[in-house]
Amino acid sequence: MKILYNGTVITQDPANPVIDRGAVVIDGDKIKELGTEELLAKYPGAQRLDARGGLIMPGMLNTHMHMYSAFARGMAIPNYNPRTFTDILRGLWWRLDKLLTPQDNYYSALVSGIEAIKNGTTTMLDHHASPNSAAGSLDELAEAINQLGLRASLSYEVSDRDGPAIARAGIEENRRFARWCQQAKPERLAASFGLHASFTLSDATLEACAEAAGDTGFHVHTAEGSSDREYNLQEFGLPAVKRLDKFGIWNPRSLAIHCVHIDEEEMELLHERDVSVVHNPESNMGNAVGRADVAAMFNKGLRVGLGSDGYTTDMFEGLKVANLLLKHGEGNPAAGSQVPAMAFANNIDIVCRHFGVLTGRLAPGWQADAIIVQYKPYSPLTADNWWYHLLMGVSGGMVRTVLVDGNILMEERELTAVDEEEVYAQARLQAESVWKRL
Ligand SMILES: [Zn+2]
Repeated sequence: MKILYNGTVITQDPANPVIDRGAVVIDGDKIKELGTEELLAKYPGAQRLDARGGLIMPGMLNTHMHMYSAFARGMAIPNYNPRTFTDILRGLWWRLDKLLTPQDNYYSALVSGIEAIKNGTTTMLDHHASPNSAAGSLDELAEAINQLGLRASLSYEVSDRDGPAIARAGIEENRRFARWCQQAKPERLAASFGLHASFTLSDATLEACAEAAGDTGFHVHTAEGSSDREYNLQEFGLPAVKRLDKFGIWNPRSLAIHCVHIDEEEMELLHERDVSVVHNPESNMGNAVGRADVAAMFNKGLRVGLGSDGYTTDMFEGLKVANLLLKHGEGNPAAGSQVPAMAFANNIDIVCRHFGVLTGRLAPGWQADAIIVQYKPYSPLTADNWWYHLLMGVSGGMVRTVLVDGNILMEERELTAVDEEEVYAQARLQAESVWKRL
């Protein structure tokens, strides 16, 4: 048993959002009880984790991530001068992904996972690409995730951009990993069937994916750039969402990532199919692809979550950028009310239906995925205003302690499962070798 105490508990449980001077009792991998510090006396034998007046919260959730992008950080790319989103894909991502070896896959996942822990992110839905080492790649990511003790869903992005053999290898990797997850039922790992985006997928490949996927949900970039919409309209007479629907890609476990360039009918179709949309504000701004109409999607009743698209592992950063992008984009300082729903309620819903476990909330019976944040509010923090404290006051670097399934992954900024210095030293060598190959 463990007990987190001496902090303000922000639960994400609408019935009981904030507990002042609260305590959270953990038994095994689940939360047993929440209450005030009187629980210390009730569980005298429990291991005590002192929040020292800070926050006790559920771990943050990232519903769209690319761990393989890790080694792009600081990478000099010869002759790279992108004018469009397609230039960014061709000049950067589709050059980097082809270089990745099994060893690169493993280390990029390991360092991304370490950063996630350090920023208080306990669950990631990842979308992987390594076209020249697709077979077994999801196992390499899984090994890193298991080593760290994180929770992750893994998928391989199938694409025709590197030819039919690599497309087939991608399909097989998704199929293999999803089947393994079904049979082995690994703790903390799940699968989705990754598709790059409809503009790099032929009808034949989409048919093959639909057949291979069985009842797995899809994880697919959807109308991220305007070129995706234009291409599908021009070649197939349908916008991206409608074209993918022809192949049965949309089901309640599917993730439509970005949806920057979709129309009202496509929103309605996604809603009808009970698909989750994931908004990635930093990435959309960085790639200058435009702004997803989050307000319209909410008005249609769509479940919109929040991801980072590999831009960061700090979801507290995502809160801030999503909020500013909505205000700035709508020219309305009162805009942005959807952000807490995206980052918490909707991300929780997406992750729970994905893994089939309850995480993202501190409540009895939920998985013990929790963080301690060294944030001491200098103004009252209440059930009505916790959101503004997170939005304006908290960043990932303030996270001190992280638990997943009741296991301590980081205590007082020290990782428990790996030697951070050693991993980073090895990762730097690995990154250097990738850069040389570029
Ligand atoms: Zn992405």
